[in-house]
Amino acid sequence: MSRQEVVKSLSQVKQKEMIGRNYDLITSGTAKVSSTFVPGNLNELLMCFDIANNLPEINAIQNAMRKKSGEMIAEAERSGHSEDVCTYVKADIGMMAKGNIAPNGKPFPVPDVLLLSYTGCFTFMKWFELLREQYKCPTVMLHVPYAADGQPTKNMRDYIVKQLKEDVIPVLEKVSGIKFDIDRLREYLRKSAIAENDLVWMLESSKHKPSPVDCYFGGVYYMGPIFTAFRGTDEAIEYYKLLRDEIEERIAKGLCAQSPDGDMPEENYRLVVEGPPNWTSFRDFWRMFSEAGAVVVASSYTKVGGVYDYDGFRHDPDHPLETLADYCLGVYTNRNLPTRVDMLARNIVDYDADGLLINSIKSCNSFSAGQLVMMREIEKITGKPGAFIETDLVDPRYFSAANVKNRLESYFQMIDQKRRAGGSAAAAGA
Ligand code: SF4
Repeated sequence: MSRQEVVKSLSQVKQKEMIGRNYDLITSGTAKVSSTFVPGNLNELLMCFDIANNLPEINAIQNAMRKKSGEMIAEAERSGHSEDVCTYVKADIGMMAKGNIAPNGKPFPVPDVLLLSYTGCFTFMKWFELLREQYKCPTVMLHVPYAADGQPTKNMRDYIVKQLKEDVIPVLEKVSGIKFDIDRLREYLRKSAIAENDLVWMLESSKHKPSPVDCYFGGVYYMGPIFTAFRGTDEAIEYYKLLRDEIEERIAKGLCAQSPDGDMPEENYRLVVEGPPNWTSFRDFWRMFSEAGAVVVASSYTKVGGVYDYDGFRHDPDHPLETLADYCLGVYTNRNLPTRVDMLARNIVDYDADGLLINSIKSCNSFSAGQLVMMREIEKITGKPGAFIETDLVDPRYFSAANVKNRLESYFQMIDQKRRAGGSAAAAGA
């Protein structure tokens, strides 16, 4: 299929319309607006107060895919932000300096509240300090303790519930003028769990051979509604049902995963990928995989806004505040390195992958710390080879197409070699 002939599926059309409508709501001036981050976002709680959910990382991604983030990052660097700062932050700060225009062409409003749910990345805190300085609006922080021993404790959960009751909910009541109704929260959480079941079904559909979906390049689209403003809504349930129907049809027809240019003709390699994708050259990056017949069967970035497939978490309407605490404690950025290693190693085995590819992000310390050690550990556990490439999130200066392509080609050759040798010992990293 030529690049022009690729037709959007019904689920893609639906998601585009949903995201567009959320931007229209945020910029309409008719709704109270919160800024909050994807990991640990409390969408169901915000909905209890009719507060619209604006996510700065998503805005940075939107600007990167429209090739606008480079100039925004340059603007932020001119105002003194170092080259090493997370480029989601600099794209956001630069966007504000350039008029704070949303993807629908209308200006973002000053948020009515900054809700910081702190889940493992220190940058979140510094980022919101900058936003607070700029907007001077009410701010509330939910402190989520780091699950350093791998398992969240009852104390941690109680501590989060206490903050929700004593800090977060009173601020949201005050900002919105709406009294908190726990039954309303229960109803949204019930809907979250339904959508989450279909989401996990989608993630696990890549156990099929060929995999009907790509769980990195395709996965970041599929996660859109649940990671943003739609968890807890009927629309998210409908979206994931529609997606499931489409994937079931793909499985029945024996189709390989989609690429930017239509269905992949064949599946040659199955990979697990750790780390965020590069967004400024997203499609070119994706093509480097799809043109080699490489499909990503599982990835850690599709767990950044919630881990649902590792230990079976679903939002639980019978324990509304406790389940919000459990959700925040369990997001990927709040998990310790041994847990991340276990998660990725299990993915390699369960999805019968050829190995682990790490896309190390220059400006994301939260993901990058310990990645080489993780790779060696996972190679030891699984006997499958790992490889390491480096790009950036939304800074176009740090995507070197030739380097990335070379690394990937060597990695695919290494996998071929191992297949021919029928070996099981981990080869040296690419
Ligand atoms: S997790 Fe990485 S990309 Fe996200 S805010 Fe932290 S440093 Fe930036």
